[in-house]
Amino acid sequence: MDDLLLLILSSPSGAGKTTLTRRLLARLPEFTFSVSHTTRKPRAKEVNGEDYHFVDRTRFEELVANGAFAEWAEVHGNLYGTTLTEIDRARKQGCTGIIFDVDYQGARQIKATRKEAVGIFILPPSLQELERRLRGRASDDEDTIRRRFDKSLVEIEHYPFFDYVLVNDDVEHAVATLEGIVLAERTRRWRMAARAELLLREGVVR
Ligand code: ADP
Ligand code: 5GP
Repeated sequence: MDDLLLLILSSPSGAGKTTLTRRLLARLPEFTFSVSHTTRKPRAKEVNGEDYHFVDRTRFEELVANGAFAEWAEVHGNLYGTTLTEIDRARKQGCTGIIFDVDYQGARQIKATRKEAVGIFILPPSLQELERRLRGRASDDEDTIRRRFDKSLVEIEHYPFFDYVLVNDDVEHAVATLEGIVLAERTRRWRMAARAELLLREGVVR
């Protein structure tokens, strides 16, 4: 285990993960975003290599066969995955944390091998507001919106996988809560143990 804080953010589609992740990254410049691979088509404003690495199914399956993924899953009919190189990149860049925007299947797989990872599940204030946000994003067709909305209860059912659950009602409040979680997680005893031990050793040799 090392000092890189692995932060998993999950929610039903449209609850506000992307929005909250952007805001959190603006507050925590030493954090990075894990850029996933996906077979989904890019939305209007999405940038390849920044929002996702957009690839076709053949390339994705090649990466699976090569063992390139820390986790991967099929979500809403498309494949999504986190490559191991994303975590390596964060370490090489000296980041103190990395945010994974993944569904509950991804969260489960990350937690299976990295038990220190911190899982946060984001709830919408209501299902009505969730539907409103999905439509308000204006980037998906009706069929996609419906499919995502219909899956929201399945997603919410998986909240017990996570360490924290927060409601994204007011954005500012939700981001402040996320930042509070990061601050608290950084001061977990096992993260601070080496520092405390250093002081004790210093005391012995004085
Ligand atoms: P996700 O990444 O979880 O699918 P997004 O971050 O894309 O969700 O948010 C979906 C839509 O809801 C976007 O149009 C976004 O601007 C809006 N949104 C996000 N958080 C809030 C909030 N707290 N209040 C109102 N609208 C929000
Ligand atoms: P979207 O298409 O709206 O960007 O994302 C759809 C869903 O896929 C969201 O629940 C998002 O968290 C999830 N997702 C995005 N990237 C990954 C990934 O790398 N792995 C997994 N398992 N899910 C992902």
